[in-house]
Amino acid sequence: MQQAQVHYNDAGTPVSDLFGDIYFSDIGGLDETDYVFLHKNQLPERWFTHPRAFFHIAETGFGTGLNFLLTWLRFRQYKTQAKSCQRLYFSSFEKYPFSKADLIKALAAWPQLAELTVLLAESYPLALPGPHRMTFDGSSVVLDLWLGDVNELLPQVPEQNKVDAWFLDGFAPSKNPDMWQQNLFNQMFRLSHSGTTASTFTCAGFVRRGLNDAGFSAKKTKGHGQKREMLIASAENAAELNVHLPSDVTIVGAGVAGINAAFALRQKGVKVQLLCADAEAGLGASHNRQGAVYPNLHATYDLMSSLSCQSFLYARQFYALWLEKLAVSADWCGVLTLACNDNLVKRQHKIKQQPFALSGLFSAVTQEQACEIAGLPLPYDGLFFPTAGWLCPQEYCQQLAQWLGSQGVHISYNTQVHEITQHEQHCMLETSAGTLQATTVVLATGAALNSLNHQESFPLRQIRGQVSHLQSQTMAPLKTVVCHQGYITPAHQQLHCVGATFDRSSGHNQVLADDDQQNLDLVNKTLNRPDWFVDVQLMSAKAGLRATVPDHMPVLGQQNQLWRFGALGARGLTWAPLLAEILACALTKEPLPLTIQQLDSVDIQRYLRLKA
Ligand code: SAM
Repeated sequence: MQQAQVHYNDAGTPVSDLFGDIYFSDIGGLDETDYVFLHKNQLPERWFTHPRAFFHIAETGFGTGLNFLLTWLRFRQYKTQAKSCQRLYFSSFEKYPFSKADLIKALAAWPQLAELTVLLAESYPLALPGPHRMTFDGSSVVLDLWLGDVNELLPQVPEQNKVDAWFLDGFAPSKNPDMWQQNLFNQMFRLSHSGTTASTFTCAGFVRRGLNDAGFSAKKTKGHGQKREMLIASAENAAELNVHLPSDVTIVGAGVAGINAAFALRQKGVKVQLLCADAEAGLGASHNRQGAVYPNLHATYDLMSSLSCQSFLYARQFYALWLEKLAVSADWCGVLTLACNDNLVKRQHKIKQQPFALSGLFSAVTQEQACEIAGLPLPYDGLFFPTAGWLCPQEYCQQLAQWLGSQGVHISYNTQVHEITQHEQHCMLETSAGTLQATTVVLATGAALNSLNHQESFPLRQIRGQVSHLQSQTMAPLKTVVCHQGYITPAHQQLHCVGATFDRSSGHNQVLADDDQQNLDLVNKTLNRPDWFVDVQLMSAKAGLRATVPDHMPVLGQQNQLWRFGALGARGLTWAPLLAEILACALTKEPLPLTIQQLDSVDIQRYLRLKA
């Protein structure tokens, strides 16, 4: 992506080099935002009587984020007086994002926004195309920053993401004719409902006519300060919102997928109960001591790469907020992926040529740099992801389960689900603890995701993986997670995790001595018998069944009242927070932070359709 190039005029206002226009008014930029975008969309007044639990604003051109920050400030003030509308979603589209440093510099002009500026800067995403979700104030303010051209992105916004108020910003139509297209107004109307309004600083005739042609009723109104006129519009001819929300959701499975799903739904105010077959959470494939969190990059920025990067960025933000509160072992020590065979050399070479290589997500490192980063001699070049790392999935599941319990989520342990029957309005679950009724069921049962619905199964593969826990004096200096064909973690409580085997043929999770030997052999073979690996002592091991599908994307989708969420493979910790958020938004009809194409790429229907 191309980043914004800015200079500052005599009044200290940021000016775009590319468009030759100012980002906000030289005099009273904040007042103008308040008047043109908030007041002219009847905000904050509408929040007090809004019929939904959330209000959705969409904006063309995020720029410095000034409009967003002022709206956030107003929403905070509103929430001290009333709580009828609990969450603010703000979706903004930006083709030329500011760098974080420029953003902080430009916003320094507004001391009243200083606190929010710091929070925004902390979560501000890397310049990677597509939607990026950031949550603030305990999830009561959600910013979706869609990076790319608004005219290309809007057709990719899911139908469900209906907007309540549009901030039609962007540089003056005369300076930015490419953006002010009929397509823009048509897409805005597609994403509107009968109560939607829009406002814009411009009063250009073709904008008013374009909005009217798209279906809005647009008219001129008094502009801010010296400006005579501006435009406001309403979409009363659009379809009415028709929202059916789930009254309660029962989640089956308390691994990384189920626990995250419960969390995301609870955050949106849904009544959740969780059924766990075991005596504790995180005893299935989520039982490991250390799980790496980093994105899975293909050679190009395809669906897998983009979704994986978005999930990674979201997961990091999520864990930064929650792990400290939950006291979960974790270390953001970076992940080093070594180019240790011809395929990986070729793939990493291609990755380095891609525009997204400039985003700061990773850096290409030479063998010497790799050794320096790792703290141990290594024989290959590689890619280093400085903000990646590891966390303990089992602790995470158990601590989050405990926290959910304190928030009113009922968790039934030792409860095995034998059968689920679907009725028109609800599901019945036959369990080892008796028969239960639920409006909506989410199966998050890992490798068992197919076993309750034989007639509608999809090609879920169970892949056995064993991780060996090693003690070693010579490996102790390891400072980062190293991925070769397997992986090695820095020591946690004196043990390194070395793994993992990959076995499609056996469907059990008993620890095997042969598998430990395979893990040791793989390190020796791939890394040329490193000196630092000679004194390793095998202390223990864990084996589990990972679930995956042929295209290696996750699975999330619905058949009537029954949802299935899983196939997270060996990357549950990276995928789960964002996909659980998608699941929760899909159920509550709140805006989704994925494109239509990305949603299709994870939808379970991609496999069920093949059979129809
Ligand atoms: N709302 C912003 C704020 O609060 O700072 C100011 C917006 S500034 C006047 C216009 C923004 O629109 C710029 O950041 C520019 O890069 C962006 N922009 C221009 N054309 C665009 C397009 N086709 N798609 C997405 N963003 C675009």
